[in-house]
Amino acid sequence: MKLSITKINSFLDCPRKYWYMYDLKMGTPKSEGFFFGSAIHEGLENFYNGKNPMEGVRQALFSKKKSIKEEAKEGVDPYKLYKEARRIFDIYKKKAPKYKPLLVEYRFEVELIHPKTQKQLPATLVGKIDLITDKAEVIDHKTASGSSSSFFEDKNTFQASGYVYAYWKIFGKMPAGFIFNTIIKGNSKHEPRIEQNFVNIGLEHLCVFFNKCEDVLGKITREETRDYPNTSHCRFCSFKDICPKKI
Ligand code: SF4
Repeated sequence: MKLSITKINSFLDCPRKYWYMYDLKMGTPKSEGFFFGSAIHEGLENFYNGKNPMEGVRQALFSKKKSIKEEAKEGVDPYKLYKEARRIFDIYKKKAPKYKPLLVEYRFEVELIHPKTQKQLPATLVGKIDLITDKAEVIDHKTASGSSSSFFEDKNTFQASGYVYAYWKIFGKMPAGFIFNTIIKGNSKHEPRIEQNFVNIGLEHLCVFFNKCEDVLGKITREETRDYPNTSHCRFCSFKDICPKKI
């Protein structure tokens, strides 16, 4: 099996949500926030590849979509989002940290082996690192409407641990650092801004990451998904309109 951080996070949100997404392969259109975040992501990929970021944004917002998962929910206005993205990239070009890219959107597939005991799981970890700098920093881009809150701290640490684990497996050493490069959207009163959030990840975090992968993999293998709803996630869930377990 191939695990990814998104896949594991979906399971941790709600095992039944995982079942909809990965067993039934059901997709839902993106919320405005996610649709916009994906467009900014495409822009950043272009930016760090020395290309025009707004061309990446344009492609993401206006090109024909291959599946419903790539589409935006009804009512999302791509022209409004394009303007917002232009405002962001005008500022980003002047104020963004000057990372020198070594690798951009680096795809990986690594074995899942416990960093201390060497126990191996019958699965690999797959994913994409947004940016690896010439100083061996691992960068993950995020788009947010405000400064990061402690509400997402566990999720962020888990995500950072996964990318650091992948780096460690690929390069045989820990990266120099892990940074969430967070673009705060701004509004009519405030300009967009960029925040660098450093996350300290050590070997212990990689062990915790491995243990969580092992736990989730075991539950998926035992099919503890469809009938194991986590209703505390319902109000955030994109399947809430069709799920009979929703509370
Ligand atoms: S609506 Fe609730 S129970 Fe149903 S899949 Fe979503 S989070 Fe799980």
